[in-house]
Amino acid sequence: MKTLLSADDLRTGVVSMADRINRSQAGKPLTVIGVLTGSLVLLADLIRLLDMPSRVGVVQASSYREGIKRGPLTINVELMPKIATRDVLLVDDIFDTGHTLSEVMGLMKRLQPASIRSCVLLRKVGCSQVDVEPDFAAFDIPDVFVVGYGLDYCDAYRNLPYLAALEPGEISRDSE
Ligand code: 5GP
Ligand code: MG
Repeated sequence: MKTLLSADDLRTGVVSMADRINRSQAGKPLTVIGVLTGSLVLLADLIRLLDMPSRVGVVQASSYREGIKRGPLTINVELMPKIATRDVLLVDDIFDTGHTLSEVMGLMKRLQPASIRSCVLLRKVGCSQVDVEPDFAAFDIPDVFVVGYGLDYCDAYRNLPYLAALEPGEISRDSE
């Protein structure tokens, strides 16, 4: 495993993204919705850096991934607070093909928020297959499989305080 971003690097990037969000929201109330489970660590750090009155909730999006393979996406909005007429910020861990963010945004738009924007910790360069882009991204990274700071591989590594790229030998061939 190779460290890609240290805990200090992550902190610097998240603080800078929070500043941009604060400036763009100019003190107006915000409803912040984290996409479970990968966004948990970012969500916890980000909300403590926001300076406007905020409501916080979660939505679950799982693609039944095993290892690094991606399957069909299911979205569960049961845990999500009401977002109609609110300014909403969707928070996810990583924008890879973009299907997750695009589908969750599409579903949330139907619930008639006043506005909806998105932020991610990481954006994989050159992997997008959709025509939406996250409004805020803390870091651009190459197309490697990363773990830590909320991101898992087979349910492990979410608790690492830094971000690491798995080496090819660390990814089971069954999961590719
Ligand atoms: P997308 O729908 O943009 O292809 O993928 C988004 C989801 O796939 C993320 O929310 C995350 O759960 C997972 N994902 C994509 N790339 C990675 C990666 O490099 N590492 C980990 N751990 N998860 C990833
Ligand atoms: Mg995810």
